[in-house]
Amino acid sequence: MKRALVWFRRDLRLTDNPALTAAVESGAEILPVYIHGLKQSPQLSEGEASRWWLHHALEDLAWQLTEHGGTLHLTQGESVLSILSRLVGEYEIDSVFWNRRYQPAAVKLDRSIKKQLQSDGIEVHSFNAGVLNEPPAIKNNSGKPYQVITPYWKLCRNIEVDKPRDADLSNTKFMKSIGLNVNDHALLPGTSWDAGLYETWTPTRKAGMNQLVRDAKDPVSDYGNDRDMLSIEGTSRLSPYLHFGQIGVREIYHKLAGMGDKVMNGYVRQLYWRDFAHHLIYHFPHSVNRALRPEYEQFPWSLDEEKIERWRRGQTGFPVIDAAMRQLWQTGWMHNRARMVVGSFLVKHLLQDWQSGADWFWDTLVDADLPNNTMGWQWVAGCGADAAPYFRVFNPLRQAERFDINADYVMKYIPELAGIPGGAIHEPWKLTPAELEHYGIKLGETYPERMIDLNEGRDRALEAYQEFKTAKV
Ligand SMILES: Cc1cc2nc3c(=O)[nH]c(=O)nc-3n(C[C@H](O)[C@H](O)[C@H](O)COP(=O)(O)OP(=O)(O)OC[C@H]3O[C@@H](n4cnc5c(N)ncnc54)[C@H](O)[C@@H]3O)c2cc1C
Repeated sequence: MKRALVWFRRDLRLTDNPALTAAVESGAEILPVYIHGLKQSPQLSEGEASRWWLHHALEDLAWQLTEHGGTLHLTQGESVLSILSRLVGEYEIDSVFWNRRYQPAAVKLDRSIKKQLQSDGIEVHSFNAGVLNEPPAIKNNSGKPYQVITPYWKLCRNIEVDKPRDADLSNTKFMKSIGLNVNDHALLPGTSWDAGLYETWTPTRKAGMNQLVRDAKDPVSDYGNDRDMLSIEGTSRLSPYLHFGQIGVREIYHKLAGMGDKVMNGYVRQLYWRDFAHHLIYHFPHSVNRALRPEYEQFPWSLDEEKIERWRRGQTGFPVIDAAMRQLWQTGWMHNRARMVVGSFLVKHLLQDWQSGADWFWDTLVDADLPNNTMGWQWVAGCGADAAPYFRVFNPLRQAERFDINADYVMKYIPELAGIPGGAIHEPWKLTPAELEHYGIKLGETYPERMIDLNEGRDRALEAYQEFKTAKV
């Protein structure tokens, strides 16, 4: 009997997993493997919150495999290639199956691994499990990659999406192996700051599927209206499940796409934004840590660690910004609208480099995802594809008035302000000393003074962007 190694990466599921399905259908005996790289490109490593999620996702996958009589072989080391080569030798493997990744470092690594394994006489089979349309397949009429979402979406939404095909695991023979325990990867935090993550999430496939089924029953019908509202669950919150591949994007697509134009143009369109992010990072690999639009390379960001730290800690003195940053810290997730608002505040009002924001998100989001995070931050900073124009500076107060109408979001994450009635909560600096005393607030002590004047910050940003653009012409 032939032996096949199935290498799991960001496809931590047994359904809609073409690499697993193909390996099973080849009739081979299967060795399911997860390799935790100890010394790899930061692009392939995880931030703290994602490590927490990964721990649980691996436990969950291992458990699901056990139910089918298999064992997830966990291993770790500095060189993924040498680990694979060792496993191939030790378990007398004939072929290796994996699903493709699109981050530049992953593409490079996968190519070199494929070359080496093939030259050692091992068959390598790779598949698409992560996106609706793979980046190399999509080009505009001039044969170039897209940089604007609308034409990209118009083209892609008409391309048929493969139906998920599951492996029949009932008769599959899994190889016996002894690897590490999930705990050996030391993914959980040393000091326990993760109580909020446990309260917010159940990081298993089953929990993600329950969320998806809930959305499919009430087919994200109010998504268009609700998705921007900060205090309600108007979005799917499936991003971490999608990032780790506990649920396949095609599984979601095929559950929802047949439900009419409203769902297609609302919720499903977001899945194409996700695809677009993969498209950009694949075709513009420099954009991982440099502006996608090269003219922005020289933008004179300032670097003020104290300001960035106040932003990170939710101590800016602007309740809606602070609520969002505290939501991130406590739950490992932040509402999309809030991501745009806090991002704009950091790069425009405070003129800090978008990468300082992207780095913090990377470390604190359970859904930290290189393509989405890079695209999101470059959109906010105006230096990416199809980005917000430089003169679009979100006003946190207007955003709060529109999207946190009853101030529920601010009250939830900033309980020290919760007594202030109505819209006044968004501008505590406008309260009289008597009002402050009445609500038990000491600005600068119980809640910070606002760190800048919003109008001044906006004018400074517009001036800096304008000067920069003029100098470039
Ligand atoms: C500055 C900034 C940073 C971001 N960083 C990340 C990140 O690290 N990881 C991440 O997954 N998303 C990121 N996003 C995109 C978006 O905010 C999240 O995907 C979304 O909030 C996740 O919540 P949800 O699952 O409820 O989304 P839903 O609205 O329910 O959307 C469904 C899925 O579509 C995808 N999606 C939705 N909106 C976007 C978008 N704007 N761009 C790309 N894909 C999208 C996600 O995979 C999401 O799970 C970022 C956005 C900004 C502005």
